[in-house]
Amino acid sequence: MKKNVMLLASLVILAGLCAAQQPKPKLKVYISADMEGVWGIVHSDQTSPESPEYGPARKWMTDDVNAVIVGLFEGGATEVVVNDSHGGMRNLIADGLDPRAFLISGSPKTLSMMQGIDGTFQACLFIGYHAKAGTEAAILDHTISSSVVYSIRVNGREMPELGLNGAIAGYFNVPVIMVSGDTALCGQAKSVLGAGTVGVAVKDAVGRYAAKMLPRDDACRLLKEGAKEALLKCASVKPFVVQPPCRFELEFHTSGQAEVAWLVPGVTRADARTAVFSNGDYLEGFRLLRALIALASGR
Ligand SMILES: [Zn+2]
Repeated sequence: MKKNVMLLASLVILAGLCAAQQPKPKLKVYISADMEGVWGIVHSDQTSPESPEYGPARKWMTDDVNAVIVGLFEGGATEVVVNDSHGGMRNLIADGLDPRAFLISGSPKTLSMMQGIDGTFQACLFIGYHAKAGTEAAILDHTISSSVVYSIRVNGREMPELGLNGAIAGYFNVPVIMVSGDTALCGQAKSVLGAGTVGVAVKDAVGRYAAKMLPRDDACRLLKEGAKEALLKCASVKPFVVQPPCRFELEFHTSGQAEVAWLVPGVTRADARTAVFSNGDYLEGFRLLRALIALASGR
């Protein structure tokens, strides 16, 4: 009898050791971090490196992202990759970022705000994002470029950046589980990506250049808790997929900008300001979209 008990105890210990040696299942999470939707930011002086207001705003951006990273690791993430996604993409303070996270910094990058995403990630988050061009009461509303793009439609639907980028995540079957920014941004996330995406509003815009901020500690707490909650239920969130063929309509501010885009073979005109093209592959279509916007800049 005693022998049996000892045998049982040994088996239990052995099972425990085996369980301890089992590698933890991987839970890779991708963050695309923009700047206009970061707490405290209401003006482009705060998002432009040449301005003295840029330094503090970089820190706020880094702190917003860090709050999210803490929530993700608490929610079970085993790896977090952060892609700096604003302007020249060198905004996050590299040695101020949570040391557990990987950072993708600099530009240009083929997939731009989504560089580094692939099918090995289980979840994606958009932090510090902003509403699309032409949104009422939304801080620094624009779509990719304030001076070039009036609107972008994909398969007939106007897209904010969160939709264009969300479709890249969807291309790799990765769901967008959380967004952060102002109230208007969170509303657009629900309508484009679906109700499953958690929205954390850190500010409520009064207009394009004014907002009421949450108290700083509350904003960081909500970012952390939102990320944790979103990751715990990430399996229930559906990826946002644009079904091919993908028809892109790029409406510029001026006819001169559109005329440059029409130089590219395969790009046709819908009207004086709008370039149109289709592609069977969303990623290729997205890259052409970015190239046309770059071509038209300065026109
Ligand atoms: Zn930006």
